[in-house]
Amino acid sequence: MKLIYNKYFPFGSFYAANIFGLIFCRSDKGRLDEVEKNHEYIHTLQQREMLFVGFLLWYCIEWLWRYAKCHNFMKAYHDLYFEREAYLMQGDLDYRHHRRHYAWWHLRKKKTL
Ligand SMILES: [Zn+2]
Repeated sequence: MKLIYNKYFPFGSFYAANIFGLIFCRSDKGRLDEVEKNHEYIHTLQQREMLFVGFLLWYCIEWLWRYAKCHNFMKAYHDLYFEREAYLMQGDLDYRHHRRHYAWWHLRKKKTL
């Protein structure tokens, strides 16, 4: 997993963004801890099984669809199927070793907030 610390991306309150398996981290928000790294690694696994572009398309379309429904940027973000899995399982540092393929789909009905 490649971590790229920088001053500008991701924007706003986000501390990291995983783009095609590269983790962009805001250097002003400190170093990622193991749980945060695990969260991003879960996104890498999701992206691999969705062939990266499929993940990106699904993620953006689902976020727009959810935002259109609730008009709350962060609520729409936390409700994303990919984020639900990542937030639910980020504390299990062994998760990558026992994760089911397409686990985000099986966990989609679980709420994180
Ligand atoms: Zn995430």
